[in-house]
Amino acid sequence: MARPIVIGLEVHLQLVTRTKLFCSCSTDYIGRKPNTNVCPICLAVPGTLPLLNDGAVALASRMGLGLHCEIQNYSTFGRKNYFYADLAKAYQITQYELPVATRGYLDIECEGRAKRVRIHHLHLEEDAGKLVHPTADGRLTGAAYSLVDYNRGGVPLTEVVSEPDMSSPAEAKEYVMRLRQLARYLDVSDGEMESGSLRVDANISLSNADGSLGTRVEIKNMNSLKALERALEYEITRQNKVLDSGGRIVQETRLWDDAEGVTRSMRNKETASDYRYYPEMDLAPVVIGDAEIDGYRGAMPELPWEKRERFAKSFGLSGEEVSILTEQKELAAFYEAVVASGAPTARAANWVRMEVLRVLNELGQDIRDFRVKPSVLADLVTRVEKKELSSTIGKEMLDALARNDLTLDEALERSGARVGRLSGDALGELIKRIISEQPDVVQTIKSGQDKKGGKLKFLQGLVMKEARGQADPQETAALLSKFLAG
Ligand code: ADP
Ligand code: MG
Ligand code: ZN
Repeated sequence: MARPIVIGLEVHLQLVTRTKLFCSCSTDYIGRKPNTNVCPICLAVPGTLPLLNDGAVALASRMGLGLHCEIQNYSTFGRKNYFYADLAKAYQITQYELPVATRGYLDIECEGRAKRVRIHHLHLEEDAGKLVHPTADGRLTGAAYSLVDYNRGGVPLTEVVSEPDMSSPAEAKEYVMRLRQLARYLDVSDGEMESGSLRVDANISLSNADGSLGTRVEIKNMNSLKALERALEYEITRQNKVLDSGGRIVQETRLWDDAEGVTRSMRNKETASDYRYYPEMDLAPVVIGDAEIDGYRGAMPELPWEKRERFAKSFGLSGEEVSILTEQKELAAFYEAVVASGAPTARAANWVRMEVLRVLNELGQDIRDFRVKPSVLADLVTRVEKKELSSTIGKEMLDALARNDLTLDEALERSGARVGRLSGDALGELIKRIISEQPDVVQTIKSGQDKKGGKLKFLQGLVMKEARGQADPQETAALLSKFLAG
């Protein structure tokens, strides 16, 4: 019988504060010259003292509330000691005994099934610096040394620790996606796995025959959701093999190698005593009063699941449509603004979901950079709805508007498309002309050789093209058949 899979995740989110957790250095370290974002505090010059950034406490509290946690009135920092070059003080300041938020949950849905993942706690901590190794980015190729960059050292993180409630790699991925979405809705973190503002340590074990939990392994170094899934799949196979051959799982930390598609043992798992945790006596306890917590609660925006429910109810959209439109709150706001400008809800949903996302993808843009204003899209969608424009022309116009600063009328003018429909006699004239220009094709059709109707389609295509999408396809087909028969 297959051994049940047990997964618990520790997710680090970089908080979007302007300055570091204990000093006033900027948190904006990406692409910066190494060691320019530093000061005596984050470089651990003796005699300097940390000063807690209140903004980070507020963001962690918000995230805690989003995860239905109890925000603690009183929490403390400790020192986690380890000696490594990325850590200037040789200890990390982190919340250990009393974290800022405890006991919450996040509801996810995986393969159509709802699941509640319990949150053990969420705490604040500082990030470490970064080592640059010879092969890491080409800068040190061939060097016999590594360099250290402290720009990231001291950047605020919140670590969200789940209970071991997930039972498949797909659930783990879904959990991270929902957590990331929540962090973005709350403006707590960018949650980018690629750049490292969201990092996942995955703990995984296979349960014993008597149902008790097996020995777990911790996997690190996954920098995409795909990598997280692959690493977990790999580890399930590896652990099953070890157990099948009568071996035992060693509790250890393993690193995912994305190129090779394997995990490798990095070190035996440290236990808490290895870190010699002790209280951080340079920082006062974090005290958050009930009034403050109420303030945070009152300032919570609409949460992803609330938005999904409201979208389904007020716009009559399917679950699939709702989840695409609400994935990003900015996209959801864009859609709502299109509807508010008078576009019909179902058609607007289609346009945003299919066309807007297609264009953004083509341009490598985010909805925040989109040139087309919601009111302009609403105008476009409405004209298509009223059949003043064909949907082909509509899509062309969207493409043009997304790439140039034009009004809709200017874009139509430029493309040569006249606003208004081509039908009746005018359409008939166009069709007659095209028939006269294609004698061979017409001959083939008339002699009954166009069995699959491909030639007829070809003629219809020519008409539609010349009509610049202003002809109705059904009317065109009907007129074409009439003239070809006549
Ligand atoms: P540590 O103190 O070593 O970090 P924790 O008890 O804090 O260990 O657990 C860390 C993570 O490991 C949590 O997310 C938890 O859900 C997960 N975890 C604990 N036991 C197991 C297990 N047997 N299998 C999978 N994950 C587990
Ligand atoms: Mg832990
Ligand atoms: Zn600093």
